[in-house]
Amino acid sequence: MNLVEKDLKYIWHPCSQMKDYEQLKPIIIDHGKGVYLYDQAGKEYMDIVSSWWCNLLGHSNAKINEAIKAQLDRLEHVIFANFSHEPAILLCEQLMEIIPKGLTKFNFSDNGSAAVECALKMSFQYQYQTGHEKKTKFMCLSEGYHGETIGALSVGSMDLYAKIYKPMLMDTIHVEAPDCYRCSYGKFRDSCNAECFEHAEKAFAEHADETCAMIVEPLLQGSAGMRIYPALYLKKLRALCNQYRVILIADEIATGFGRTGKMFAFDHAGVSPDIMCLSKGLTGGYMPMAITITTDEIYNAFYADYNEGKAFMHSHTYSGNPLGCSAALVVQKILREDRIIEKAALRAEYLHNQLNEALLDHQHIGEIRHLGLVNAMELVIDKRTKEEYDSQLRLGYQVYKKALEKGLILRPLGNVLYFNPPLIINEAEIDKAVSICAESIKEVIG
Ligand SMILES: *Cc1c(COP(=O)(O)O)cnc(C)c1O
Repeated sequence: MNLVEKDLKYIWHPCSQMKDYEQLKPIIIDHGKGVYLYDQAGKEYMDIVSSWWCNLLGHSNAKINEAIKAQLDRLEHVIFANFSHEPAILLCEQLMEIIPKGLTKFNFSDNGSAAVECALKMSFQYQYQTGHEKKTKFMCLSEGYHGETIGALSVGSMDLYAKIYKPMLMDTIHVEAPDCYRCSYGKFRDSCNAECFEHAEKAFAEHADETCAMIVEPLLQGSAGMRIYPALYLKKLRALCNQYRVILIADEIATGFGRTGKMFAFDHAGVSPDIMCLSKGLTGGYMPMAITITTDEIYNAFYADYNEGKAFMHSHTYSGNPLGCSAALVVQKILREDRIIEKAALRAEYLHNQLNEALLDHQHIGEIRHLGLVNAMELVIDKRTKEEYDSQLRLGYQVYKKALEKGLILRPLGNVLYFNPPLIINEAEIDKAVSICAESIKEVIG
């Protein structure tokens, strides 16, 4: 049996209908370098989706490799209750320099969904321990995505992932999210005053008494198809949460560390959340690690004599893993010293221009929306009516398969094709990705 056959014999791949693998076999990656991955036969694939949005600085980055190797010979892991280590401490000190003002306390876990679960439990317990026992529910935006565990799914809104599990999920309040491409107020980005925020106002007026926290993907609803909404919405939401004493949770798992053009998506709004969840780019896409960061005010509501029972009795075996922390620490150093985000801004403009030139006039591309290096193209039947293709046609998936043949990993979100490359992608790589993408679309759709 070769490796592909053994893979199919043993492995149940994530987020996959395994029957699809009869037609499109698993691609066994041997090694990676920069924006490229190489299969066993040496075929090159450009990782334009950053391996599920986590690879920040390229594959096999020499500095990150070196930092992890050095840490490996020192300490691989240690229980994080009552014990600590230098990489975790220095990492917090570094992050304090860049995170939104007011966030001061760091709770470590090992994946994005876990960071969200942590934020939800923390909010709930904070409200309880400050005399607001009735505030037990969570609010979220429609089409939101916060991970796949039961709590995270409950505050997610995408039927694709959540529908079948509804009987298992918490009862949450879903607020209609901004939909700028199909704006029902007929606004364009320039004329918009976040009119759609009225849905949040209405929901708060009705439900704030029973709501402990509101969670959002700031500016960019990733899984929903890279839907982008204005920073003004976050500003308004900050004020509303203050007014009703609702905790504001920023899920910056996908948007953190320069993906939106600034360090964090909340930086565009100039306000701070009460809790921020980080993962994905945190370690440059190397190690499974996440952090839930909060304020002194929330932290202090748990701080008491042990027998008062107010502690946050929440843990993960791999909390604060030193290998993850050492990777995250060197990622911070590279971002700072190599001015990665500043330089990526130039390439972001270049990428958007190239995509516009190649595809903006295409009759089946509704719009090319963009934020930072993230660019998303929605495939539609008719550009003017924005009519959607039947999802059963799996058009995005057809384009994905075509692009794979040509060496580009253009994994779609339904009928949305997107670029979310490592921040270090260069202009020649952008040209290549854009041209493969355009060819693939033309060969599949015309
Ligand atoms: C990926 C993602 C998560 C979940 O992270 P996992 O590590 O996959 O559990 C949560 N929220 C957002 C916004 C994400 O993009």
